[in-house]
Amino acid sequence: MTGFDAAAAIRAKRLHDRAAELDAADGLAALRDRFLLPEGVVYLDGNSLGALPAAVPDAVEDAVRRQWGTDLIRSWNDNDWWDAPTRIGDTVGRLVGAAKGQVVCGDSTSVQLYNALTGAARLRPGRTLLLTDPDHFPTDQYIADAVARTLGLTVRRVPVRELPGVLAADGPDVAVAAYGPVDYRTGELYDMAALTDAVHAAGAVVLWDLCHAAGAVPVELDAIGADFAVGCGYKYLSGGPGAPAFVYVAARHQDAFDHAITGWHGHAEPFGMHGTYTPAPGISRARIGTPPLLSMLALEAALTAFDGVDMKALRAKSTSLTGFFLDCADTLLDGLGFTVATPRDPERRGSQVSLRHEHAYPMVQALIARGYIGDMRAPDILRFGFNALYVTHADVAGLAAELLRITEEREYADGRFAARSTVT
Ligand SMILES: *Cc1c(COP(=O)(O)O)cnc(C)c1O
Repeated sequence: MTGFDAAAAIRAKRLHDRAAELDAADGLAALRDRFLLPEGVVYLDGNSLGALPAAVPDAVEDAVRRQWGTDLIRSWNDNDWWDAPTRIGDTVGRLVGAAKGQVVCGDSTSVQLYNALTGAARLRPGRTLLLTDPDHFPTDQYIADAVARTLGLTVRRVPVRELPGVLAADGPDVAVAAYGPVDYRTGELYDMAALTDAVHAAGAVVLWDLCHAAGAVPVELDAIGADFAVGCGYKYLSGGPGAPAFVYVAARHQDAFDHAITGWHGHAEPFGMHGTYTPAPGISRARIGTPPLLSMLALEAALTAFDGVDMKALRAKSTSLTGFFLDCADTLLDGLGFTVATPRDPERRGSQVSLRHEHAYPMVQALIARGYIGDMRAPDILRFGFNALYVTHADVAGLAAELLRITEEREYADGRFAARSTVT
């Protein structure tokens, strides 16, 4: 195999130098020390499972040994376990533009979706349509179908581009529109404010799924007048595997929020041990049952990685990283069978870049073997998440150079990269 030809090597060197300049000028560079990243790994899958924040191991150790081991059940009061869902909810709220008292943490995104979507649809009795995105993450689509079956509604799958037209035509029938601001495959970012306005103009309510937006792009739930939102704790929030999700219920809807899963932690008097449900006032009614405290406290520690971080500055670094990767791909990977799936307009992309290639799966495996961890989404997407808290421009330049090497030397064709694991 020939390896890099001389011209490609010069181009790669230039990108490497450019990366060094960009990193030297990066005002957020020190935030990387808030994470424990393994040696020899460039981690570009923080949009799927965020890296380990440095504050987490001690917090988990304390939660297990002291709070659980020593303080035992007294921790519900003495270590404020009881308030954890709303306390941590408020911390997440800062990252998604929600004033205090509108976000609760707990359970999984799927459970929160079911609960919130039911409550959202019940705000518009008599309306029969539930709109969602045919390209939405699978669980969102399955749960839209499940909620519709429970409530006797009809799901209509409408691509984001067609949503304003459908709302204009059939608006009076629409109860709720359930969408995500970032396409999890392509990284396309939609205009949340304009879409929220269009949903409201139809008299419907909107539920935003922020899984790929929270901690990644500035989200202003209160300012845009969003009704409901959910999101997960383990992607850009880096809360750890299976970290609790969160739900946002705008203050103006809380008194009427008639949700699906009426657990005892959402009761007005949880320790009254009543036989029938009376919802708590405020956001507390969105609580369900006993939260996974160890994971909650891990998430709380993880969120300290955002302490003092201005989301606008984080966004500027994120678009710098994604834009630089597009430059690298244009410079190094042209003519090698890649196409860019992510919008080039920085206003229209989240914090990831996706490339399409017919050999996407073995290419990602070959990259991982070289220490560059991204992921693959069927059928042909190589997906790279750029968490601006810890990814550098040097990482990005290195990624492009490795992709060039793997492609030119046909390293991906090696049989050991063909076998599919359960998780891609
Ligand atoms: C990651 C993701 C989920 C995951 O749901 P879980 O219940 O946490 O497994 C749901 N929706 C979207 C849009 C996602 O990106």
